[in-house]
Amino acid sequence: MSSDTNQSSTAEHYDLIVIGTGSGNSIPEELNDRKIAIVEKGIFGGTCINVGCIPTKMYVYTADVVRELQNVGTYGIYPIGGAAAAQIPVAGWRVDWKALQERVFGKRIDPISKGGEEYRRGDETPNITLYSDIARFTGERTLQIGDGKTGVATTITGDQIILATGSRTWVPPVIAESGVPYRTNDDIMRMEELPRTLVILGGGIVATEFAHIFSALGVEVFVVNRSEHLLRRFDETVSTRFTELSNNQWTNLLGHTVTAARAEGGLTTITLDDGREIDCDELLLAQGRVPNGDLLNAEDGGVELAEDGRIITDEFGRTTAPGVWALGDASNTFQLKHVANQEARAVFHNVAAAKSAGDANLMPFKHDNVPGGVFSHPQIGTVGMTEEQSREWAEANGRTLTVKVQEYSDVAYGWAMEDTTGFCKLIADADS
Ligand SMILES: Cc1cc2nc3c(=O)[nH]c(=O)nc-3n(C[C@H](O)[C@H](O)[C@H](O)COP(=O)(O)OP(=O)(O)OC[C@H]3O[C@@H](n4cnc5c(N)ncnc54)[C@H](O)[C@@H]3O)c2cc1C
Repeated sequence: MSSDTNQSSTAEHYDLIVIGTGSGNSIPEELNDRKIAIVEKGIFGGTCINVGCIPTKMYVYTADVVRELQNVGTYGIYPIGGAAAAQIPVAGWRVDWKALQERVFGKRIDPISKGGEEYRRGDETPNITLYSDIARFTGERTLQIGDGKTGVATTITGDQIILATGSRTWVPPVIAESGVPYRTNDDIMRMEELPRTLVILGGGIVATEFAHIFSALGVEVFVVNRSEHLLRRFDETVSTRFTELSNNQWTNLLGHTVTAARAEGGLTTITLDDGREIDCDELLLAQGRVPNGDLLNAEDGGVELAEDGRIITDEFGRTTAPGVWALGDASNTFQLKHVANQEARAVFHNVAAAKSAGDANLMPFKHDNVPGGVFSHPQIGTVGMTEEQSREWAEANGRTLTVKVQEYSDVAYGWAMEDTTGFCKLIADADS
C-alpha cells in the first residue's frame, strides 16, 4: 500500500462484501441475516440500466419508429399533401434530441439509479452498508476502499467476497496515444447535441446498435471495422446479410484499421490504413470490452486472472481464492445481462449454502444454449451454434447436419408485410 494512504486502524468486518452494483446488487432475501457491504465506484446500478441494455434499447425503439415512418408509403400511407412515393424521407420532421434524452434518462433511468441507491442506504436494508468508491485487494479477503489520496481510505474484511465488477470499453492504443476526444457507451447517449457526423470504430453488437440509432436520427454515420463483415462472430449467413443491408443505412469502411487520429477546431480526423482521412464531429469507440478485474489488485487477494483479464472461476463461481466468488462480465465471455443475472442467482445461492453444505448443494452457471439479440436494423435473435461451429461438432461426433434458410418473403405473413430482407436459419442434427 502506498505510503500516502491514510488507512483506518481497525478494519470493519462483514459476512459478505459485494463489489459492483449491476447484477451484484440482486441480493436475495435469504441473506437478510448477514452483515453485508456493497462497494460501487461508479453510477449505482451498473452498466445495463445506466449506460447499456436499457437506455440503448429505448433509443433503438425511437430509431425503429423513424425507420417505420420512412417506409409507410409501402403500405399506402402518405402524409397529406406529400409525395406519393414509396419511400417518404423524414423531411418536415425533426428529432428533438433533448426530449429524447429526457424521456430516457430524466424520466426513467436516472430515478431508478437514484432510488436504488437510496434504498440501499435507507432503513429498509439495515444489514447493508454502501461504499461509493473503488475497492482493491490488499490481502486475503481484505479490501481497501478508496485510494486514500482524495479522501480517507477504509479497510474492510469479509468472510466471503463477490466480485461483480463488470467490464469497460476497450480504448485502442492509436486513439489513447493520439489524445483525441472520444465517446463510449458511457456518455454518447448524453451528448449535448446530435453531431452532424459520427465515426464508430467496431463492428459488433454495440457498434451496430449505435449505428442504427444515430443513422436513423439523421446523423451521417461511418462504421470502421477491421473485418470485412459486421457481426463477424455470428453465423456467416447472418453476418453477410446484415452487412449487405447495413450499407443502405450508413457508410461502412470495412477491412480497415485506424493508423492515426488528430483533433482540430472541433473536428476529429481519423486516418485509415489506406491513407484515407475521415472527419467527424464525434468518435465512438465500440471495438470490444475489457473485464474490470485488472482494477482490483487481484493478485494480492489470491484471485487469478486469465490472459484476457477475466477473473477465473469454476462452474459455481468460485475464484482461485477461498471465499471469493465472481460473476458477470468480469468473468464470463458472453457479456450479456441475462447471463450475469443467472450467475448472480447461482453465486448468491452458493454463498448462502457455502457454510452449511458441500458441493452437492451448489448451483452451477448455465452456459448452454445462451440466447442473444442484436437490436440494430434489422434485429437479430440467435441461440445455439453457428453453422461453422455445428459442422465442426458434427464432424467430431460423426453426425449429419441439416440446414434450412427460410426467407420471410416466402411465408404468408412475411409476404403480407412485404418483408424482402428477413430470414430464419435453422441448423439441426439430421439424425435426431
Ligand atoms: C451499449 C451496451 C448495450 C448492451 N445491451 C445489452 C442487451 O441488449 N442485452 C444484454 O443481455 N446485454 C447487453 N449489454 C451487456 C450488459 O450490459 C452486461 O452484460 C451486464 O451489464 C453485465 O453486468 P455485471 O453485473 O457483470 O457488470 P456491470 O453492470 O458492468 O456492473 C459492474 C459494476 O462494478 C463497478 N466496479 C468495477 N470495478 C470496481 C471496483 N474495483 N470497485 C468498486 N466498483 C467497481 C462498476 O462501476 C460497475 O457499476 C450491453 C452492454 C453495453 C455496453
